[in-house]
Amino acid sequence: EGLELERLDSCRWRLPRQGRMQVDGLIFANDALIEDIRDTEAVRQVANVACLPGVVGRSIGMPDIHWGFGFPIGGVAAFDPDQGGVISPGGVGYDINCGVRLLRTPLQAEDLGAHLPRLMDRLFERIPAGMGRGYGDTLLRNRDMRRLLREGAAWAVEVGLGEPEDLARIEDRGCLPGADPEAVSDRAIQRGRDQVGTVGSGNHFIEIGCVDDVYDEAAARRLGLEAGTLTVMIHSGSRGLGHQVCDDFLVTMERITGRNGIELPDRQLACAPLSCSAARDYLGAMQAAANFAYVNRQAMTQQVRRVFAEVLGEEAHLELVYDVSHNIAKFERHRVDGEEREVCVHRKGATRAFPPGHPELPEDLRGLGQPVLLPGDMTRYSYVLLGTQGAYAETFGSCAHGAGRRLSRRQAKRAAEGRDLDAELAEAGIEVRASSRQTVAEELAEAYKDVSDVVDVVAHAGIGRRVARLRPLGVLKG
Ligand code: 5GP
Ligand code: MN
Ligand code: MN
Repeated sequence: EGLELERLDSCRWRLPRQGRMQVDGLIFANDALIEDIRDTEAVRQVANVACLPGVVGRSIGMPDIHWGFGFPIGGVAAFDPDQGGVISPGGVGYDINCGVRLLRTPLQAEDLGAHLPRLMDRLFERIPAGMGRGYGDTLLRNRDMRRLLREGAAWAVEVGLGEPEDLARIEDRGCLPGADPEAVSDRAIQRGRDQVGTVGSGNHFIEIGCVDDVYDEAAARRLGLEAGTLTVMIHSGSRGLGHQVCDDFLVTMERITGRNGIELPDRQLACAPLSCSAARDYLGAMQAAANFAYVNRQAMTQQVRRVFAEVLGEEAHLELVYDVSHNIAKFERHRVDGEEREVCVHRKGATRAFPPGHPELPEDLRGLGQPVLLPGDMTRYSYVLLGTQGAYAETFGSCAHGAGRRLSRRQAKRAAEGRDLDAELAEAGIEVRASSRQTVAEELAEAYKDVSDVVDVVAHAGIGRRVARLRPLGVLKG
């Protein structure tokens, strides 16, 4: 009601500052996508975020935007610590450092031959998937949680859950150095203990696929993603540990919000000024949970490598292309209102997309820009893009994170009623292994927007550059 979007051009919509909004909202969408966004709660959430103390620039919605807890999924917002800026757990999300990594094999998809079903069976046996699933008593249990939380992926490599070359290809080299295990509750540690190396619930997945279209030959070659290359994509986060950290700090932050007299349009936006000790504690715990997520994806990578070696032989070695975080808050330097400042960028269901030459990028990829991974859905496709100067100038160096949901889980289940989903997936030629039929119903392609539309928008807006498209062959769903 009353939240009119003003068209700026073919892929940008302005949500003019009104009421208690301190800055404008900016939503990226084309004619097709805006119909799924307009009049939804997500637009209200973009406006709500624009009301928070110390928000700078604009409250941004990516084309894959949809409703989330407090902040929209597909939302980006930056806060200035010197202007009373805040940190908000809802702006990071429950699944702290949920993210995606892409691996490549030296094989072509056709080399797989008849091995795909067996490969999927082995992955499904070896790697726990589904809500709350862990390893029980097996090898990944009872690791040194404090070191894991403090050191992230480097620790994983040290204990044999990875290869040293992996580290350079992970955002932050797989470790946020401010991690503070002491700020993580015992309950959170307990929940994470046997979940290192696990997929999690239904939107998370391990997907075998191949490069089926290339838009930038040179960049694709540099990333090892020539047409036909057999790939593996892993999407997961910090599991029960991150969820518990979020829960714990929402309670703390609600108290602080009241105490600081911060008036919120929505309780789910509970937050704390970046200068206060609760904010520091949350940041320390969030970074520890982020390191857990990096280790989680790293441990799964190693499991996938073992399965590939067993089924396809040692020459099927998997190399990490890149690992991105899409639920995180980070201090970064950005140009705001003509002046370079350090701000706390919240990306929730949004991917960092740094431009060519950025010092944070691994040396061998610095000339290209940061790889940006956009999973689509389990039957159509996913994309690999690169970060751009446009993103750096306009979106705090951020891009979309996927297709984004179109239907709620409940709506998706209803849409699946009376259908033979196994037959449909077999018809589409995709080997699916899922923890339940319900997962498959909730995760049908039609539950998501068409990721090609999302990619068209970000490419046209200049906040991402297309490199390659991937097609799924086999999907393990949580
Ligand atoms: P989220 O982190 O928001 O749960 O999911 C990120 C994106 O992953 C979703 O917006 C959706 O586009 C994509 N996605 C979900 N399930 C699958 C899948 O099984 N395969 C692929 N390739 N993408 C998926
Ligand atoms: Mn995710
Ligand atoms: Mn997640």
